[in-house]
Amino acid sequence: MFKIKKDDQIMVVSGREKGKTGKVIRVIPDKATVVVEKLNIVKRHQKPSAKYKHGGIIEKEAPISIANLMLICEKCKGPVRAGRKLLGDGNKVRYCKKCGEVFEK
Ligand SMILES: [Zn+2]
Repeated sequence: MFKIKKDDQIMVVSGREKGKTGKVIRVIPDKATVVVEKLNIVKRHQKPSAKYKHGGIIEKEAPISIANLMLICEKCKGPVRAGRKLLGDGNKVRYCKKCGEVFEK
């Protein structure tokens, strides 16, 4: 289980995108990386194919290591450490260690 899930709001805390925020659009568990909307954009040279008729340069989000990201707490309005707790109904949820806000809606 990773601390970050799809649709989470995150902040990058190290690397070339440091300080930027965005929404997680994909988690790649095998590599412990996530793809964040409009962050870590790389340009790729694309040869013409069925999908890209003319080829050329396409811009794509490259995955970012989960270790470089922190969750953003809506209440604290900033990056926070997340903890885990077990609810009375047996569900495990992530919560903000600063204010106690639960991330799972
Ligand atoms: Zn908080």
